Amino acid sequence: MISQNLNRVKATLREGVKLVAVSKYHPMEDLQQAYDAGQRIFGESHVQELTAKYEALPKDIEWHFIGHLQTNKVKYIAPFISLIHAVDTVKLLREIDRQAQKAGRVVDCLLQMHIAQEETKFGFTPAELIEMLEAGEWKTLANVRIVGLMCMATNTDDETQIRGEFKFAHETFESVKQRFFADEPSFKELSMGMSGDYMIAQEEHSTMVRVGTMIFGARNY
Ligand SMILES: *Cc1c(COP(=O)(O)O)cnc(C)c1O
Repeated sequence: MISQNLNRVKATLREGVKLVAVSKYHPMEDLQQAYDAGQRIFGESHVQELTAKYEALPKDIEWHFIGHLQTNKVKYIAPFISLIHAVDTVKLLREIDRQAQKAGRVVDCLLQMHIAQEETKFGFTPAELIEMLEAGEWKTLANVRIVGLMCMATNTDDETQIRGEFKFAHETFESVKQRFFADEPSFKELSMGMSGDYMIAQEEHSTMVRVGTMIFGARNY
């Protein structure tokens, strides 16, 4: 089942779009099945669950942290995490830098920008994002590398709304890249799109989609 689902999703991906298999709340066996079918990038959103899976599963997996990350938990994932998708404060960025330095690593991060209508989601507003980049402290943090933006669209059936939000995200991504990262080719990732909207996200220039339900089925919280 899982390998078929995975192949079905992969068959719909545009060239160059990376698939993050979102495995939160799913048991190790399910991840192992996806691994055996060739998947190497997995996304988790709880630190304890992630570290347990990291310890048990093959070491060539690229682990992405996709959820809201608390500063006091950064130390547990800094030694091995490949990409942190949802950095939403400078304070968090500083702590990632500190823990990455301790671990002797440079950790790749995405800045989460809030584009949806819902008010509960985390993330910088577009204005806060620009303000933070202008302030420039991030440039002094030698052990973090900002490689792009992460966004979530409103949870709605209204495709026009979703597309509009993704279009806006892409425009902002391009202008941020030009203004702050023109000399850094590593700033190239736009993480957007989940099971319900990744086809639209790809059409709007997402480079990385985070798909859970379509691969692993519904989650039992
Ligand atoms: C859970 C989660 C996903 C995956 O959602 P699905 O609808 O199951 O594909 C993607 N991104 C984030 C940030 C998530 O928390």
